[in-house]
Amino acid sequence: MRLTQLPLLPSAGPRVRPSALAVLDERLRGTRFVSLAARSLLNSPQQTGVDFWSLNPYVGCEFGCTYCYARYAHRYVVERAHDAGRLSVAEFRDFRGPHGWEAFERRIFVKDGVLDALERDLQRYFRSAGPGVSPTAAIVIGTATDPYQPGERRFRVTRRILERLARCEGLNIGIITKSPLVARDIDVLRRIAERSDLEVHVSLTTVDVGIIRRLEARSPMPAARLRALRRLTAAGITAGLIVAPVLPGITDDVPHLEALFQAAREAGARFVHAGPLRLYAAVRDRFLPVLDAHFPHLSERYRRAYARASGAPRLYAAALDRRVRRLQRRFGFPENEGMRDRYTRRLPPAQGTLGL
Ligand code: SF4
Repeated sequence: MRLTQLPLLPSAGPRVRPSALAVLDERLRGTRFVSLAARSLLNSPQQTGVDFWSLNPYVGCEFGCTYCYARYAHRYVVERAHDAGRLSVAEFRDFRGPHGWEAFERRIFVKDGVLDALERDLQRYFRSAGPGVSPTAAIVIGTATDPYQPGERRFRVTRRILERLARCEGLNIGIITKSPLVARDIDVLRRIAERSDLEVHVSLTTVDVGIIRRLEARSPMPAARLRALRRLTAAGITAGLIVAPVLPGITDDVPHLEALFQAAREAGARFVHAGPLRLYAAVRDRFLPVLDAHFPHLSERYRRAYARASGAPRLYAAALDRRVRRLQRRFGFPENEGMRDRYTRRLPPAQGTLGL
C-alpha cells in the first residue's frame, strides 16, 4: 500500500488532491487510523493561551467520552486539511461525521515524524526562557487526546516521545490518561523522573461502572485504571487521580466523591484533583443527547445552568471546590490544585453554594 500523509500546512491552491490520506490501520469497530505529518509537536503558551506547553501524540481519541472538549482540535485539523485542498468532499464528510463529532472518536490521526519535530521544538522550548536560563514552564502530555488510547499499543508514538524526553534534564512533565497502558512505560517514566519532575494524572470521574459506560463510550474500566495507578505509585512514580469533569447531579454527591478518594488512597495516590464540567459548544452536540437519554431529569437544569457560558456557574464551582477540599483534608491529600492551577498558577473560582 502506498502511504501518503496529510500535511498540516496549506497547499498552494484550493484544488482537491484525491486520496491524500494514508490509512495505517482499520478496526472492526469502525475506527480508522491515518497518518499526519507532524511539523511541530509542542504547542507553546503563546499558541494556546495557557502557561504550560502541551503535547498531543494523536488527534482524536477512541475513548469517546461524551463530555470531551478536545473535539475542537480534531475539527480544526480536518478543516485546515479541507481548506488546503487535501481532502475530497467525500473524505471531508467522512472525517467530520454526520453530526460533526463522530470522527473525533473514529478517525484518529497518528502523528508521524514526531522525533524530528520534537527535536526542533525542544530547541524552541529551551530558548523560550532566554539565553542561559532554564525554562520552568511545564510540558503537559495529553491535553487534547489520550496519549495511551488503544492505538498507542500498536503505534507507540507516546513511548517514542517519552524516550526522547528521558534524555533531557530539569523538565517539568505532566501526563494525563485514562488508560492502564501507561503502566507499560514505567521503565521510561522512572528514567524521566530521575532527571526531571514528573507527575502522572490518572483520569477517573467515578468508580460507578454503570455511569462510566453511559458517558464514556470506550474508556477502560475504573478498576483497571486504579490498578495502573497502584503500579505507578508502587514503582515510585508521582501519580494521582484527576477527577474531571465532575458532573453536576451525577457524580458530585459526597458518596461518589468519597469512593474515589478512598480508591485513590488505597492505590497510593499522591494527590486527587477535581473540577466541574465545562460545556463548550463542541461538546454540547455529543453530551446533551446522552444526558437527555440517560439522565432526563437533569436536562432542563443543565441547559439553564450552562445557557450563557461554557463554565459551571460560579456558585456551583465554588461549592464543589469546598467539598473537594474537605475530602482532600479528610483523606490526607494536598488541598485543591486542579490541573490548571498546578501548571498555570491560576486561582480557583470564587466561593458560593452547591446546586445548579
Ligand atoms: S480520554 Fe480524554 S481525550 Fe479521550 S475522549 Fe476521553 S476526555 Fe477526551
